[in-house]
Amino acid sequence: MNERIGDVLSDFEDIISRAQVLTFLPRDSDLQENSVNELKDYIKRLNFAQELAVKNKDEDMANKILAVRCGCRAIRSELDMWLSLKSEEWIESWGSLVDAQDFLRSAQSAHKMMRKPNIQNMQDKYRWVEKFVFPPQTYLSPGFVVKKFVCSICGEDYEKCDHIEGLPYWGKFCNRIIADIEKVQEISVVEEPKDKGCRIIHFTTEEGLVRNKMTWKTYDPEEIQNFPEFETGEKIFTGIVMKPNGTYGRTQKMQEKRG
Ligand SMILES: [Zn+2]
Repeated sequence: MNERIGDVLSDFEDIISRAQVLTFLPRDSDLQENSVNELKDYIKRLNFAQELAVKNKDEDMANKILAVRCGCRAIRSELDMWLSLKSEEWIESWGSLVDAQDFLRSAQSAHKMMRKPNIQNMQDKYRWVEKFVFPPQTYLSPGFVVKKFVCSICGEDYEKCDHIEGLPYWGKFCNRIIADIEKVQEISVVEEPKDKGCRIIHFTTEEGLVRNKMTWKTYDPEEIQNFPEFETGEKIFTGIVMKPNGTYGRTQKMQEKRG
């Protein structure tokens, strides 16, 4: 694709305002799906533009495009959330909300062009959706003993390089990647998690049933795949915690000791 960076960026405002008109529950699903596709195509154009910026040795431009890309992905995730809610895909819709929040935060970290009041308004909207559309969640946080982190930018030991986690470099964020993990020390229940995807999925009721934390529906334990065995009255929950490589995985048995 041979497009000038300026031409790609000049389409941003139009594409975003067309999409934002559709970021509400009652909007037509076909229109929302079309908008998701339009954003996907635009993100591809942004990827090319970003490569070009790096080739031109323009780091500020590369970071600016990163910010725009994250902004587009936030809106795309929000559209996905409304679409999933309409089709009663509750887990997916929660995941999309969490993605929308994360992408928006990343957009703000990537470049000052995204640190504006209208972006803050979007973040506030997502907070409200989280609070009033979804039931309260219980978040989990894994405690690791990590022997070594490597830097995602230079691949060196994070303790020794100059890059800083969360800051953009040439259109990419610096992340700490766990290279060597000793053990998972504990799983704790937290109010403000680093990752809202890490949460309790099922828990046992006093009657010996298993309740879904999101839908509140109860099941016989054998209906839930891989749910650990338990005695009636025993308090058990299962959930999602982050894996060392940053993807989610289901946890094994965890016993909750209340009070
Ligand atoms: Zn580094």
